[in-house]
Amino acid sequence: MEINNSELRQDIISKDWAIIAVGRAKRPQLFANKNKEKFEQSIIECPFENPQASGHGEPVLIYYKNNKKDWNLQVIKNKYPMLSSGDYFKITKEGPYSLMPGNGFHEIIITRDHKKHLAIMPTENVAEVIKAYQERYLALMNYDFINYIFIFHNHGKEAGASIPHPHTQLVAMPILPADVKRSLEGAKKYQDEYKKCAHCEMIAWEREEKRLIFQNEYFIVFAPFVPRVNFELRIYPHQHLSNFEKITETERKYLAEALQKALYSLYKGLKNPAYNFFIHTAPCDGKDYNYYHWHIEILPKTNTWAGLELGTGVEVLTIKPEEVAKFLREFI
Ligand SMILES: [Zn+2]
Ligand SMILES: [Zn+2]
Ligand SMILES: [Zn+2]
Repeated sequence: MEINNSELRQDIISKDWAIIAVGRAKRPQLFANKNKEKFEQSIIECPFENPQASGHGEPVLIYYKNNKKDWNLQVIKNKYPMLSSGDYFKITKEGPYSLMPGNGFHEIIITRDHKKHLAIMPTENVAEVIKAYQERYLALMNYDFINYIFIFHNHGKEAGASIPHPHTQLVAMPILPADVKRSLEGAKKYQDEYKKCAHCEMIAWEREEKRLIFQNEYFIVFAPFVPRVNFELRIYPHQHLSNFEKITETERKYLAEALQKALYSLYKGLKNPAYNFFIHTAPCDGKDYNYYHWHIEILPKTNTWAGLELGTGVEVLTIKPEEVAKFLREFI
């Protein structure tokens, strides 16, 4: 007898449907990537041990260790930026097409320890990383031609990291990226229709729910009802806040704890999987985004359905987020 284990779930913001097909149910720990390629580089070869000696310019921000002898975190300009510096911003036409110069900022936030990635570094260092994100965001948001600042972290080769030394990237750009636009539009539509924030609705529900992974006074970590990949996690401030860059010192500490708990549970539960995480926050283009609720999305690399997803936009999940949460809570 065949049991139908598939379910279709609709996201309340994007209105997209996802397939949760657990027909060939696997235990959560079997999602740990065993065939992972070794992704290591000796300290001698690592360009981030001494970024200046390896040809990067002076840091745009530097935090020192307490002894003042060595740095603890530094932010440098990317040697191979995806956007070049320059504040020239003008759209020109070429027949039916529009184009503009690829100007913006592309920076790298590097922490000192070659091996200690965010999941396993002291929590106060994670708070310092968040402080650096914020400082650079605040420094770049006031450029007239900068409309969006995207902060993202790639961990592991499968997640697109090219250098194993832990680092985060920040791209300040003149455009609104497509996924951000969709996220904003979905949130706005929900607000117009129901007169409340979709994210606040979700958070209020998830606080009591089986998908909850961790929460503290200021932040909540849960596995979303409609994930985009297996083991996706989200972090939200409990309070309705639109702008990441307005985070307070106290909130930074609580966010550091929440982010670290989330990453640590994946690190332990899935044996150091590759993942990406990024911040979705309101654009800095001067418009009103009070309806938006900033958050962090963590997307581990465990999926194998790439072709279907790229071609149809329908995500196929092979583990329920309820199972994910139950499993990961054991590692908190
Ligand atoms: Zn290194
Ligand atoms: Zn909200
Ligand atoms: Zn988002």
